[in-house]
Amino acid sequence: MHLRPRTSNLGCIVRRRTKEGHLAVIPKICDLCATQGTDKLVSLYWAWIRADGRRTAYKQRVCPPCMREAYVPLIVKAMEPILTCPACGVSTVDDMDAVFLTFCIPGMPQDQSEMPLCGPCAVEVRNKALTNASPLPDRGVGVGGPQPTLQNAAEMWAALGIVPQARR
Ligand SMILES: [Zn+2]
Ligand SMILES: [Zn+2]
Repeated sequence: MHLRPRTSNLGCIVRRRTKEGHLAVIPKICDLCATQGTDKLVSLYWAWIRADGRRTAYKQRVCPPCMREAYVPLIVKAMEPILTCPACGVSTVDDMDAVFLTFCIPGMPQDQSEMPLCGPCAVEVRNKALTNASPLPDRGVGVGGPQPTLQNAAEMWAALGIVPQARR
């Protein structure tokens, strides 16, 4: 008998046990580094407005090390209340190419980030976000909310085994 992992409305994996008390087997292959590991994956829901004005959304699942290396610095920077590109630090008050990210870290409630990227960095981040990602219907699944809702980042990073580093 195959047990499908239950998912929340956003597709976050909900912990589920089989009769034997084992966790249902879920493939854990990182979309970014393609490594199969035992770590639970972080679910990412990306959305942005394309140049032609259409909203586009993708789902990606990455291992905690990739999350830490590729995306956490952007999320942390994007939490700052000033409009600067979270990737390169340039002011994006006048020219912003926003990328919206909703993410589910195992064991944590879903959260989201709005990244006020500059044009060139937005291309880079979107290319990374598209790596092995699956397109989502153009309906929006909670991504793209107006405000980031990060409240307790330290607790969240701790769940990922991440200790935020002081900025240099
Ligand atoms: Zn990875
Ligand atoms: Zn930039």
